[in-house]
Amino acid sequence: MGRVLFIVDVQNDFTEGGALGVDGGSAVAAGISALLAEHPGRYAHVVASRDWHDAEGDNGGHFATDAVPDFAGTWPVHCVAGTEGAEYHPALSTAMIGTHVRKGMGEPAYSLFEGVTEHGETVAELLDAWGAGDVDVVGIATDYCVLASARDALRAGRRVRVLRDLVAGVAPASSSAALDELAAAGAEIVDSQEEPPSSGGPDAQASGAAERSAAPSGPTA
Ligand SMILES: [Zn+2]
Repeated sequence: MGRVLFIVDVQNDFTEGGALGVDGGSAVAAGISALLAEHPGRYAHVVASRDWHDAEGDNGGHFATDAVPDFAGTWPVHCVAGTEGAEYHPALSTAMIGTHVRKGMGEPAYSLFEGVTEHGETVAELLDAWGAGDVDVVGIATDYCVLASARDALRAGRRVRVLRDLVAGVAPASSSAALDELAAAGAEIVDSQEEPPSSGGPDAQASGAAERSAAPSGPTA
């Protein structure tokens, strides 16, 4: 039971000055820390992901090693395991992050659900173990890893809120489209100050199957 916070890829390389920095990334890091400080009891579990690529090779075509990156499917070298760029942004307070997952080891990986803990656990396994039905999503980038993570949470039958003031994207148009897509799929797009409804287990969901698409996410009796 309890609400879970997903903090997606708030890493130096995805914030201003990084290899693939997005505007607003540093503010997102500070804003997440402020949210956790102001509402320490809101989340039963806090999960943070990091892109964690191999230094060798192109990570399954993810790095544009021989060509100009297209910033859609190929990218400049970023978040290489063990480098400063792969570390959490210093403004992100990590004290309340109970679960850390890494993804992208030798392959492209946009969703936090593709990550594993140091013990090899996946987020899907942990959500089931926790009986968590409600997920809030924040982080970077709105139009790629936040989108993929929130989409997977919906597919896993969770009620999802995206905190729109605590995400930052690569480009405005694709970020806006990402939020529209998630809203159409049943996510709530809300301000981080909006108090969440009390959370229940995944069974509180009308249909917890992968087919969940446009079900309204109003309060349940
Ligand atoms: Zn990557």
